[in-house]
Amino acid sequence: MMSLRLPSIDGLLRHPACGPLLERHGRESLLASLRQLLDELRSSVLNGQLSAVEISPEVLAGRVGERLTQQQRSNVRRVFNLTGTVLHTNLGRALLPDEAIDAVQMAARYPLNLEFDLASGKRGDRDDLIESLIRELTGAEAVTVVNNNAAAVLLTLNSLGARKEGIISRGELIEIGGAFRIPDIMARAGVRLHEVGTTNRTHARDYEAAISPRSGLIMRVHASNYSIEGFTARVPTAELAELAHRHGLPLLEDLGSGSLLDLTRWGLPAEPTVRQALLDGADIVTFSGDKLLGGPQAGLIVGRKELIAKIKKNPLKRALRVDKLTLAALEAVLGLYRDPDRLAERLPSLRLLTRPQAEIFAQAARLQPALAEVLGETWHISAVHALGMIGSGSQPVARLPSAALCCRPQVSKRLRGRCLLNLEAALRALPIPVLGRIDDDALWLDLRQLDDEPAWLAQLPQLQVDS
Ligand SMILES: *Cc1c(COP(=O)(O)O)cnc(C)c1O
Repeated sequence: MMSLRLPSIDGLLRHPACGPLLERHGRESLLASLRQLLDELRSSVLNGQLSAVEISPEVLAGRVGERLTQQQRSNVRRVFNLTGTVLHTNLGRALLPDEAIDAVQMAARYPLNLEFDLASGKRGDRDDLIESLIRELTGAEAVTVVNNNAAAVLLTLNSLGARKEGIISRGELIEIGGAFRIPDIMARAGVRLHEVGTTNRTHARDYEAAISPRSGLIMRVHASNYSIEGFTARVPTAELAELAHRHGLPLLEDLGSGSLLDLTRWGLPAEPTVRQALLDGADIVTFSGDKLLGGPQAGLIVGRKELIAKIKKNPLKRALRVDKLTLAALEAVLGLYRDPDRLAERLPSLRLLTRPQAEIFAQAARLQPALAEVLGETWHISAVHALGMIGSGSQPVARLPSAALCCRPQVSKRLRGRCLLNLEAALRALPIPVLGRIDDDALWLDLRQLDDEPAWLAQLPQLQVDS
């Protein structure tokens, strides 16, 4: 059997090659890494994968150093989202404005009046910190905030409809990415699903026929990530609210993204506003904090005072509540909505969504030569018009006119797929990973969201594409 001569752990720890590692990572981490490496080397020799018989302390220190650096790197990494989808759920959705970042810092660094009423000196309620602002912006009577919109829907259903039937159109029994399905959430909330109508058409008479003494609520869900077109019918919210109230039932409307303002003023596709849903008669409206609102992850529940009071009394509320960092960020973001004229400059998600195509195209044209030079002969790089998306279930069919760097491999059709995957992997391996999308035999880097151009350019020379 091949024998392996390895330095002793003690010897290694004292060796000058390990000195800087000891200084940087501490004795405990260094020791653990050294032990692990030596064990691995011994077993590779035992099973014949390694035939080297002597490994110097310098080589070992080098390898251990690489491992420790790798381990030290944070798993939470910044990336460039050049996918064309602005509110990308897998990439963290909305980016916070400076005002919210400052508020989060303050809340992280100091004690704060999270549940403490400074006027009376008595215990307070964390919802009070944002209630008046949300009431002002939506016209709601009362408000409560939870961890995300999925939690908002679960909590509302459980508080108002447990052990009763929830009436909902078959066209609204949707699944939202990541295993959020309306029928499953209803079941977990203890609400018995009573589906009415058909996938494409549901009428007022369908709801009416379903109402019985077992009914607890009527629910309406924004179709979010799909659209029903063609021969369709949907009862307007105002009519559905009137019907619900005639039978003494509350109407819940899950807007998903929802919007506090009419987005068409910025030339964006129309999205239902929270204020309008309430004006139409919805008793409770739920929506996300980090979709079109442009804030932190949160679920906002707004509507009638006595229903909100009931929701707040549910013990689940405590399990689903928001933390202080979120509340601080949310208040700061909502504050910006008081000045709608400047919102598009100050709220990053809205600023990005409203970037003019001509400006993005000019950026693509400006960056094209740098990318072409790094990628060389194998690739044809062009600045082109492209179509992006809002994302997060807002307006699934609407497209945002944008511009991209389009990278086409100049190789035979057979090799194209592999070539594109190699480029995609190389972009992901950059210090700040760059994420684009592959479509139509090309890799597209949609530049709508590239606002840190210097950082993007600075790392380009490190791009190494396997061929
Ligand atoms: C996105 C969405 C949800 C879930 O919201 P989260 O904030 O992701 O928990 C629920 N309902 C609808 C209609 C949605 O679009």
